[in-house]
Amino acid sequence: METEPTAVMDCLHVIDGKYVPSHNQKTFVNTNPATEQMIGSVAEGGKTEIDWAVAAARKAYYGGWKNSKWSERAAILRRIGELILQRKDELAMLESLDTGKPLSLSTAVDIPRAAGSFHYFSSLISTLGTEAYPMEVGALNYVIRKPIGVVGLICPWNLPLLLLSAKLAPCLAMGNTVVIKPAEWTPMTATVLAQICKDAGLPDGVVNIVHGFGKDAAGEALAEHPDVSAIAFTGENHTGKQIMRAAAGNLKRLSFELGGKNPNLIFADCDLDKVVDTTIRSSFINQGEVCLSGSRIYVQRAIYETFLQRFVAKTREQVVGDPMQAQTNIGALISKEHYERVLRYIDLAREEGGTIETGGSRVKGCEKGYFVEPTIITGVSQDSRVVREEIFGPVVTIQVFDTEEEVIRQANDSHYGLSASIWTNDVSCAFRVAEQIEVGLTWVNTWFLRDPRTPYGGVKESGIGRQGGMYSIDFYSDISTICMKY
Ligand code: NAD
Repeated sequence: METEPTAVMDCLHVIDGKYVPSHNQKTFVNTNPATEQMIGSVAEGGKTEIDWAVAAARKAYYGGWKNSKWSERAAILRRIGELILQRKDELAMLESLDTGKPLSLSTAVDIPRAAGSFHYFSSLISTLGTEAYPMEVGALNYVIRKPIGVVGLICPWNLPLLLLSAKLAPCLAMGNTVVIKPAEWTPMTATVLAQICKDAGLPDGVVNIVHGFGKDAAGEALAEHPDVSAIAFTGENHTGKQIMRAAAGNLKRLSFELGGKNPNLIFADCDLDKVVDTTIRSSFINQGEVCLSGSRIYVQRAIYETFLQRFVAKTREQVVGDPMQAQTNIGALISKEHYERVLRYIDLAREEGGTIETGGSRVKGCEKGYFVEPTIITGVSQDSRVVREEIFGPVVTIQVFDTEEEVIRQANDSHYGLSASIWTNDVSCAFRVAEQIEVGLTWVNTWFLRDPRTPYGGVKESGIGRQGGMYSIDFYSDISTICMKY
């Protein structure tokens, strides 16, 4: 790599407003996946540190935050959003060093969208109303929202600050206190966010962070903790199942955003220029490490060859390499393990009889770092593992279809159900297909666009519950009815 890391940071836990090491001083190494260089050491927490953090969060909850005024919370959230924007360049750099994603992407998307969540939920709680039902017998029923207590947020590594903020903003907005377990690969921006929260005036103990691993470690201890009322988790399906079991002890409320194997349905009458450009993004942006990535591409036979030719040509133009360079489109995968896993899937595609149209190996010229070429696979059947399993890398499959019924069947033939994109200029076809696809979010002639007021989440094994707008407010509050007789 030409560019040396320019920021190095050690991460401690943040508990009750203080930076603290683990009780046994244990740490683990944080590595830049683009250079394989150590960029910091991270405190490794477990049950003890989770106990400390939950106790601090409980103290802050009953010590005042539970009964804080919504106007105070709205003002603090707004300041958090502003401080994130003020520190945008630093946060974007840390995010890229941690994840390997292009700096241009973290600057344009990750950090501004994280700030956007705080601004949005600040406005939303400033306008929240309620329901009231007068009864003929002389009574008034009205509905209030109360916070739910201490909430655990367990986060993934692909969009670290963005996804954390989408949970944290509504959670704080409703008066809860929080223990965050960032992904072990990406501890840095969460740690800075804790400082930003403090600078914005958030009382000590309202936001706590415990770094560490998941299974038999900090993540599991948080999911099990009897004083935690709810867990909001984003990550893999099998982790979701483990968390569900661990959380059963006190019947925690759960919000799960899990994996996806999202279909792109491309009909012959589509606007091909737009489809090719957007499909490049939906396939390879963030190295394909996006839960909403359109990794199963279905193309109608009449345009299959043309689409393939143009899509392959455009894929070959993608610049893979140093995340710090402005022209880079695709950076490094998160870790050696994940990189090897993605390469194994490409080998598997070959074993399953697939053709690698482009890509298919590590990037030549990058001796260090976990760089995989953007890869297009054809010639695989619907029941091959590369069509069925989430690869979570810059790897897509393309299959051909003839009829609307056939592609709906193929698209729905998955235990995932997160999102889908339909490409057609036939409005009736778009309506018909959109209603039939078994996913939580369907795009027509676009991808990755969503108004923050709309619900977001998966059906089938892609998740439980919805986030976004009032759906987040519902998750992070207890709804109570008061019936007053007069
Ligand atoms: P992961 O499940 O491996 O890890 C996520 C978090 O869970 C980490 O903080 C990890 O330490 C923790 N964890 C792991 N095992 C645990 C356990 N037994 N108990 C408690 N915590 C545990 O997921 P990942 O690899 O970080 O993220 C990639 C996955 O996330 C992909 O499947 C992707 O599709 C999914 N994802 C989904 C969405 C969505 O909105 N649906 C968004 C982003 C990512």
